[in-house]
Amino acid sequence: MREAMYYVKRDDGRVQCHLCPKMCVIPEGRNGFCKVRRHEGGKLLTLNYARVASYGMDPIEKKPLYNFYPGSYIFSMGTFGCNLACAFCQNWEISQQNAPTVEIAPEAAVRIAVRQRDEPGGNVGIAYTYSEPFMWYEYVLDTAKLAHEAGLKNVMVTNGSVTEEPLKEIIPHIDAMNIDVKAFTEKFYHHTCKGGLGPVQRTVEIAHGAGVHVELTNLIIPTLNDSAEEIGELVDWVASIDPGIPLHFSRYFPNYKLEIDPTPAQTLQMAYNIAQKKLHYVYVGNIAGGDGHDTVCPACGTKVLERGGMGLRRNRLRDGHCPECGETIKVVEAALRARV
Ligand code: SF4
Repeated sequence: MREAMYYVKRDDGRVQCHLCPKMCVIPEGRNGFCKVRRHEGGKLLTLNYARVASYGMDPIEKKPLYNFYPGSYIFSMGTFGCNLACAFCQNWEISQQNAPTVEIAPEAAVRIAVRQRDEPGGNVGIAYTYSEPFMWYEYVLDTAKLAHEAGLKNVMVTNGSVTEEPLKEIIPHIDAMNIDVKAFTEKFYHHTCKGGLGPVQRTVEIAHGAGVHVELTNLIIPTLNDSAEEIGELVDWVASIDPGIPLHFSRYFPNYKLEIDPTPAQTLQMAYNIAQKKLHYVYVGNIAGGDGHDTVCPACGTKVLERGGMGLRRNRLRDGHCPECGETIKVVEAALRARV
């Protein structure tokens, strides 16, 4: 345990955490909503510093990041706790309860990542993922600084619910983010996730504006966020920021507290068709078949990166350009190697 960043002591003896939009006011001896920041003796403590609930080497496509070092692996780790409470959470065993952990200090995490970089197959960096990395803020900040010094990339897979100041402090140390935009209505965020859409939009805009490579994921859940109108509004907003931002539509499966049937394939195809008209890189995940697995040249439609399973099957990029028409493809670094 160590003292948390971004909180204030109040005159009434409680502390207020300023890390995320929840802005919890926390009495002595109690935790915030996320269950990983605790008020003890007038200080806000972070309970999960260096406590790793899950780790391993993942294909970067699993994050998902399709336009950032495609075909590479990334050392991935996560802790427990979350500032949202999504009824459909796919990782609820670590996000919504105090999971078993091992201690990995920032220096040790970087040593592991560097060692794996030098092994066959390579490793591009460290991904802070599995649960919400902003709830691990101090640890991610410390580790990301060391990782950069060692020449590694830093990736956050996040719900984007963070306040502006901590976001801007960590951004210089982050190379890429996959940000969940779970729906495009405040109603969904409020009822299904106990959060808000506005802060997530702000995070996307700030991160992209600061030069972070940003990709977005939208999990489509039947009856809750699957209307053509809502998907169209999401797409219009992304296009207004930058049509080159990759957007991943993901298939929902029942999990945690939600028992709605899985997303039909035709709904994902409908979303793909809507987005394809306005965005350059549209993907569909968690489902076999259909469109949206490959990276397609936005100018001529040639498949420039072909995927199979969770990896890259074929890389046809020529120095970052389409081999047929020469269009620049917005991909950060070509593949280290094709894996499949
Ligand atoms: S980070 Fe946790 S304690 Fe802080 S405001 Fe958010 S939910 Fe509350």
